Amino acid sequence: MKESNNRQFSWNICGHEKIVRFLQSAIIHSHLAQAYLFTGPSHLGKETVARKFIASLLCADQGKNLPCGECLNCRQLKNGLHPDFYVVGKEINLKTEKARKEIVIDQVRELKYKLQQATLFNGYKVALITEAQLMNASSANAILKILEEPTRKTVIIILADDISNLPLTILSRCQLLKFLPVPTLVIKSYLENSGAFNSDLLARQSHHCPGLALNFLNDQELAKSAKDNANNFFQALKADLNSRFTLVDKIINWDKDENVNIFLLNNLLEDWQLMIRDLVLIKSDNESLITNLKQLPELKNEVLTLDFPRIRAILAKISQAYDYSRHNINSKSILENLIINL
Ligand SMILES: [Zn+2]
Repeated sequence: MKESNNRQFSWNICGHEKIVRFLQSAIIHSHLAQAYLFTGPSHLGKETVARKFIASLLCADQGKNLPCGECLNCRQLKNGLHPDFYVVGKEINLKTEKARKEIVIDQVRELKYKLQQATLFNGYKVALITEAQLMNASSANAILKILEEPTRKTVIIILADDISNLPLTILSRCQLLKFLPVPTLVIKSYLENSGAFNSDLLARQSHHCPGLALNFLNDQELAKSAKDNANNFFQALKADLNSRFTLVDKIINWDKDENVNIFLLNNLLEDWQLMIRDLVLIKSDNESLITNLKQLPELKNEVLTLDFPRIRAILAKISQAYDYSRHNINSKSILENLIINL
C-alpha cells in the first residue's frame, strides 16, 4: 500500500465536523483504536461516516482524494465484495424468511472466524456492526471476547442508536464517539450545495437528521407533483363528506414515520397555497403571472366557481393546518380536518 503524508479526504459529510476531523487525523497518523462505538439516534449519519472511514482505511491509493473510489479496493468495497471487510447486522432468518429481531451468536462466531484469517491485501481487516443495540446477551458476550483478544491491524466499528443495553465491558473497550443532532442551517447549506431547490423546507422538516433530509431529497415518491396536488384539491372541493374522508388516504401515502408524514403534509399545503395564489391571479385577470396552474388549462373553469370570500376562507384553513403541523398534532388528523372544512 502506498503511504503518503499529505493525504486528503473527500468525505462530504453533513455536520459532525469534530468526529470527522478526529477520524481523519487517526488515519493520517496511523493512530487507530482497535474498536470504535458510534452512538446517537438513527438518521444522524453514523453509518455514512463509518463507511467513509472504512473506505479511507482500505483504499489502496492513500492520496489526495481519500477514498479514491477507483482503485480495486474501493470498487470491491462499493460492490460489497471486499475480502477484508465484514458487516454484521440485522439478517434474514433463512428458515422463516423474515428479518431477525436480534443479532444472534452465530453471526458473531462467523465474524470471529473471518477476523482470524490472514488478510488478502496485507492491509486492515475491518468489521462494521450495525444496530448493535439488537445484540442479545450471548452475541454481546461473543463480541466482548473478540475485543478482549485483538488481532493485528483489525478495526471494529460498532454502531448503536442506544447504548443503555450494551454491557459496560464492551463500552470500556471502545473509543466512544457520540453523534449529536445537526443544526438546521448546516443541513440547509449542505442540501443547497447538493443542488436541492427546496433546501429550506427539507432542512426544517428533517428535525436535525441529515439522513431524513437526504431520504426526502432522493425519494421521488415523496414529492408529489404539483399537478397531482392541484387535481386533488379540486376533487376535494367537489366531493361529498364521505368521499372527502377517502381522499385523505389517496392524497398522501401515509408512512409509519410521522416525520415523513409531516413533510408530505407540508409539501401538499405549500402546493395548495401556490395554487390558490394562481386562482387569485386568474380571477383578477393577471393570468400571465400564474405558475402552478400553467400546465392545467382544464382547471381554469373550476376557478370561476370560487368567489373571493371562499378563496380567503380556504387560505385561512390552510394557514391553520400549517400551524397545527408545527405543534405535534397528528398529520393525518390535520389533513382530515382541513379537507372536511374546505
Ligand atoms: Zn481507493
